[in-house]
Amino acid sequence: MNGNDGHGAVTGDQGAGNQLESVKNTPMISANGLAWPGMGTQERLQESSDAAAARLDKIQNAAQTILECVGEDANRPGLLNTPKRFAQAMMVFTEGYGQNVWDIVNGAIFPENHNEMVIVKDIDISSLCEHHLVPFTGKMHIGYIPHHSVIGLSKLARIADMFSRRLQVQERLTKQVADTIMEVLQPQGVAVVMESTHMCMVTRGVQKQASLTITSCVLGCFKADEKTRSEFLSLVGARRHYNT
Ligand SMILES: [Zn+2]
Repeated sequence: MNGNDGHGAVTGDQGAGNQLESVKNTPMISANGLAWPGMGTQERLQESSDAAAARLDKIQNAAQTILECVGEDANRPGLLNTPKRFAQAMMVFTEGYGQNVWDIVNGAIFPENHNEMVIVKDIDISSLCEHHLVPFTGKMHIGYIPHHSVIGLSKLARIADMFSRRLQVQERLTKQVADTIMEVLQPQGVAVVMESTHMCMVTRGVQKQASLTITSCVLGCFKADEKTRSEFLSLVGARRHYNT
């Protein structure tokens, strides 16, 4: 096992120089760079091409069963290749389990004496609700205050992508992104807000078409300092949702 389901960010006062080395095997990120892998992630990463083909076949058969069970004609032209397409899509929707955090960060952490808030707003997110296996989509806003080093801005979106391509609940997705940035960068603090629409809510049951689910995770100085948190929420336009 990877021993990476611990929580709580690593703190310390290292300079940027030795920072990377010291966090490469953190409580959340294993030696092979995986963060919160699934039970079968290693097997999936290491399997032979035959085993990979068998895995696709299995998903394909399951999709075929669904088509039959909903009362469709699985042999009509429009649906003929749907099980295959579904199987391939499902592998893409879940490829984030096997991605290596350090490959994604790829050395893009730079020493910099910038101590002001950095925000990347409106990152598009598509993920799969683990309760219904249907999408939830929305925007994520990420902010951090550096401590001796900054990270390439596109990397924040890449980290968000990595955790989106899994079976998720929005609360966990938000927290995993925040915790990971805290671990790899060791900034003074991280704040993540996500606003999204869940297909399982808008298309079934109560059918609340316009409902928006908002989650947030604040760490370090964003947690400790109400003013900092408030500034972040104002800048990303999420403050209206909070009582701060
Ligand atoms: Zn759902």
